[in-house]
Amino acid sequence: MDWESILIRQKSWRPDNKDELRLTIDEGIELYKNAPLHDLMSAANQRRKILFPHGIVTYLVDRNINYTNVCTINCQFCSFYRPPGHNENYTQTYEQISERIIELIKIGGSRILMQGGVNPSLELEWYVKLINYLSKEHPTIDLDCFSPIEIEGIAEVAGVSTLEILQCFKNAGMHGLPGGGAEMLVDGIRSDISPKKGSPQNWLNVMEQAQSLGLTTSATNVFGFGEDEVDRIQHMMRIRDLQDKALSSHGNGFTSFIAWPVQLESNTFGKRNRGKNKHVLGAGPTEYLRHVAISRLFLDNITNIQASWPTMGLGVAQMALYAGANDAGSTMMEENVVSASGTSKMSASEIELQYTIKRAGFKPVKRDSDYNHLVTELIRNDSKHLPAPIPSQISL
Ligand code: SF4
Repeated sequence: MDWESILIRQKSWRPDNKDELRLTIDEGIELYKNAPLHDLMSAANQRRKILFPHGIVTYLVDRNINYTNVCTINCQFCSFYRPPGHNENYTQTYEQISERIIELIKIGGSRILMQGGVNPSLELEWYVKLINYLSKEHPTIDLDCFSPIEIEGIAEVAGVSTLEILQCFKNAGMHGLPGGGAEMLVDGIRSDISPKKGSPQNWLNVMEQAQSLGLTTSATNVFGFGEDEVDRIQHMMRIRDLQDKALSSHGNGFTSFIAWPVQLESNTFGKRNRGKNKHVLGAGPTEYLRHVAISRLFLDNITNIQASWPTMGLGVAQMALYAGANDAGSTMMEENVVSASGTSKMSASEIELQYTIKRAGFKPVKRDSDYNHLVTELIRNDSKHLPAPIPSQISL
């Protein structure tokens, strides 16, 4: 079927006929390769309106904490990590991490996203005590900690299974896992960009185990490594398959899908983007928007699609809300992993996210890590600080 016929068929999509209209891999590839951006965005926007009919766009007040930069995995696109023994190594103390959470609580935050490198000098006991300490000190904060590769690293050092580690962390008070480290869940790409990370199945296995324990999980996707449309759809397919399985087996799957292009400024991988033999890597705004729109249409079993302002900027994130995204991401407060590779904006204030959402024509609603809506105090605007007036249809 050509892209036009696929999109015409998708127009009758409703939650009660979604199985019948589920996009096949071939349809996804056809849309990715040939559908004009405008048509794709229009179809994805229609899908968002069916799922979120009241024009609500959510955001989260949270904080990223990168507790250690020591890592043995050496991903080619990573400028954040330092190998063991490097003079720039750091590992934050419990107190330093706790101080960051206190700052988050002061601005009304509800979640930390704590991830770092795979640090072989930290033992299981250090992690368990940390989670115990933080959950007792800060009971109102959801602790989303350690991406699958960190869980694998901790399990290896401790000599136990990843499932045991997850159960142990859950018992200590962990709420969920960040979705990081998925990048492209395609064997050839993964073995090229981060050979020590193991197969895509490893990431999926840890996520499935976390979902079986009732932990909160999200799915990410970094793209622009030189992969083609088939690889990109393959990644989404693996996420969609696991989501089907997780929802039917545990009633608990990924809360959301978040994609962004690889950052190339200051890492080994970025060098492939320069010089005589350069490959075209990364992705610009239109390719990003195409990716978001396809993900909204293809991932019919994941409710929330998030726009990525840290890599694309707030303006492109606004456009992503018209490409099927229904969430504007989070305040972050600090970010050291993606930003080490070239992004400059590492935090957004709550008012900035509210303005971004309002000025795109939507109603901002604060949420928690599980996408439950929270009481949202709309911060009144001081229009003299705005480059242009708020659209008249938005009440402040
Ligand atoms: S991306 Fe994560 S796992 Fe890979 S080198 Fe960086 S810190 Fe280590």
